[in-house]
Amino acid sequence: MACAHRRAGGPLPVVGSAPRAALEYDVVHDGAGTLDVEASIPPGFARPFSVDGPAIPFVRDVAFVEDGRTRAAPRVGGAWDLSSCSAGCRVRYRVALAEACETIGDISTAQAFHGLQEAPPSTWLLAPTDADEATRIAFRVRTPPPLVFVTGVFRSPEGGGVHALTWGDLQTSPYSGFGGVRTLEIPVPGASITLALDGPFDVGDGALAGWVKANAEAVAGWFGRFPVPHALVILVSGGAADIDFGKSLSGGGASVFLRVGARAGRQDLARDWVLAHELVHLGFPAQPRYRDWMEEGLATYVEPLARAKAGLLDDAAVWRGFLTGMHFGLPERGDRGLDRTHTWGRVYWGGALFWLVADLEIRRRTAGARSLRHALAAIVAAGGNNAVRWAAPEACRVGDAATGTTVLAEMFQAWSEGPVDPQLDAVYMYLGVALGDGGEVLLDDRAPGSATRRTLTRAP
Ligand SMILES: [Zn+2]
Repeated sequence: MACAHRRAGGPLPVVGSAPRAALEYDVVHDGAGTLDVEASIPPGFARPFSVDGPAIPFVRDVAFVEDGRTRAAPRVGGAWDLSSCSAGCRVRYRVALAEACETIGDISTAQAFHGLQEAPPSTWLLAPTDADEATRIAFRVRTPPPLVFVTGVFRSPEGGGVHALTWGDLQTSPYSGFGGVRTLEIPVPGASITLALDGPFDVGDGALAGWVKANAEAVAGWFGRFPVPHALVILVSGGAADIDFGKSLSGGGASVFLRVGARAGRQDLARDWVLAHELVHLGFPAQPRYRDWMEEGLATYVEPLARAKAGLLDDAAVWRGFLTGMHFGLPERGDRGLDRTHTWGRVYWGGALFWLVADLEIRRRTAGARSLRHALAAIVAAGGNNAVRWAAPEACRVGDAATGTTVLAEMFQAWSEGPVDPQLDAVYMYLGVALGDGGEVLLDDRAPGSATRRTLTRAP
C-alpha cells in the first residue's frame, strides 16, 4: 500500500494575506485530449512563465493575442518569456494533455486511466515562475458533453464555474481530471464530496458511494465537522482485489485519489483503512516535507480511532494496529528528532506516537475534560485544514488554546528537535492493552487508564 504526498519544501507563506492581482484562465478541452487555453495576465507579471517541469514539453504554440492577431512568445529554456507583457496581456497556448498522460504516466503530473485524463492545474496552467505567494489564480474549464471536468480546487465565491487558488498553492494543487467519468455528489456534515468513478467496479457505484460517505462521516465526527468545505474523491478501478493505492493532494482545495480493485467486494471496502487515512489528512494544515511526520502521524493515529468511534472498526482491531505498529516509531540508536530522521518508522509511527502521547497528556492535565480532539477540532474550526499551510508552532498554539494547556507546544519542541523515548511499555500498562502469546488483544479493565482507553475508541 502506498500513501504519499507531493508537497513543496519551500518557505512558509503568510497565512491569510489578501489576494493580489488575479491571473485568469479559460480552458477548453477539445474532447480528444488537447486543452486550448487563453490566459488574461494583469500588469506586473513581465517575467518567465512555465508549468510543472515534466509537463513543459507538452505546452505548445504559446502566443500573445494582440488586436485579434497572435505573435509567438519567445521560449527561453523551460519557460516562455513574457517580459513584453508589463502592461498586461492575453496569451494563448495549447496543452497536449493526452500525449502528456501517455508519456508521463504519473498522477502527480498527468496520467490517463479508463476514461479519465488526470492532471492537476500545475500541469496545464502556464504561470509565473516566481510571484507573490498570495497571487490569485482563477480558472474556468469547459468540456464537450458528455465529458466532464472534476477538480479538488475550491470554487471561487464569484460563481460561474470559476475555481481559484493562490500561486503558492499551485505546486501542490489538487488532483483534477477531464473525461468520461461518472460523478456523484455526496453530502456530509458541513461539506460536500464530489465522487468521480472511473472504470468498472463489481461492487457497484452505490456501494462505493456509501463507503465514501460512511468514512467521510467518521472523519467529520472525529473533527467535529468535515475538515474542508468540498473535496474531490477519485476512484479508479485497478487490477488488485482491494484498495492498493491512495494519495491526497490539497493545495488550495482538497482531493483524494484511490485505486480500488475492480473485483473488490463489500468486505474489502469494510476492511480498508486507506480511504479514512487520506480523508484524515484533510484535517491538518499542510507542512513542509521535513515535517511529514506531523501529517502522516496524525493520519496513522486518528484513522482507526475515527472509524472505531463511528462503529466501522472494533476496539480490538484498533489496539492490534497500535500494538503491532507503534514500536516502529521509537527512536533507534543514532536517530534524531522527528524533523530530522525521516525513516518510514519515524515518519508514520513516530508521528503517531507523538499524537498518542499528546492525547494522553492533554487528558491527564485536564483530568479528562479535554483531549486531542478538542485541539484538532479548534485548528480545523480556525481554518487550519490541508488546503492551507500553517507553521507547525501556530497550529500547536491554536490547539493548545482549546485545551487550556501547552502540551502541543512543549511536545512539538522536544519531539521535533531530539529523540524522545515515550516509555511505550509504561503507556500500554497504563492503558491496559497487550498482545497475548497467540497475537490476540488483551484489554485489562483494572488498569489505571482503562477508562481513558475506552473513551479513545468509543463515541461519547
Ligand atoms: Zn498519508
